[in-house]
Amino acid sequence: MIHTKVVKFLFPEIIHSRLRDFYLQFRAKLYSGDQFFCPCCLRYFRIFLSGGTIQRHNIICPGCNSAERHRLLALYLENQTNFFEQQLKVLHFAPEYMFQKRFSMLPDLDYISADIQSQYAQYKIDIMNIPYEDSSFDVILSNHVLEHVLDDKQAMRELFRILKPGGWAILQVPLDPTLDKTYEDPNIVSPEDRALHFGQWDHVRMYGRDYKDRLEAVGFMVKVDGYVRQLDRAMIEKCRLDKAEDIYYCSKIN
Ligand SMILES: [Zn+2]
Repeated sequence: MIHTKVVKFLFPEIIHSRLRDFYLQFRAKLYSGDQFFCPCCLRYFRIFLSGGTIQRHNIICPGCNSAERHRLLALYLENQTNFFEQQLKVLHFAPEYMFQKRFSMLPDLDYISADIQSQYAQYKIDIMNIPYEDSSFDVILSNHVLEHVLDDKQAMRELFRILKPGGWAILQVPLDPTLDKTYEDPNIVSPEDRALHFGQWDHVRMYGRDYKDRLEAVGFMVKVDGYVRQLDRAMIEKCRLDKAEDIYYCSKIN
């Protein structure tokens, strides 16, 4: 198997994206069926692929590489928000490929993607120092980003600052519900130690149940939404969702 970095080195980005599209379309056909549904790429499959940091069976969408959290977010945006219904200015941090492709084509969205390093994002932006004026966006999406950020409080302040009053953000992080308090230690810096303590080599903390408090401390009104548990069991299984995942829906009132 050719390593991804080698492909990126050999081919310009646009060709790499087209190769990836071609590969995903081929794989979608290979696994097509009617038992499982991906609300990210809107396709049906006979099975999902195995994957995840800890290998899990029947998890990754063959058509777009979505995992459980991506599919839950897609359903949530569709059914619980105005995301697909109104003209909105959206900032998406660390854009997932399947979302960026779909959202950038929606005519009502003024969609901007950003990342500190990914070449797939439109703009290179540091989430701790966001180069937009106050109250610039109706919606912010940030899915598993803050656990990588050294000063997450500064990042949260910035996200709150650039959100318009009345706007909302979905700010998902990996979280250990058995922890009262977020576990972080600036002395833990090596990739091996970070993987051991925080669950992944490039994570700088493990959030606990105080994640909501941290968001509220910068001004957000936070709804910890157990939307997935309102869905019926057949839907949860059809989309292969994680029943334990909560959506952190963060509003800016003023
Ligand atoms: Zn998919």
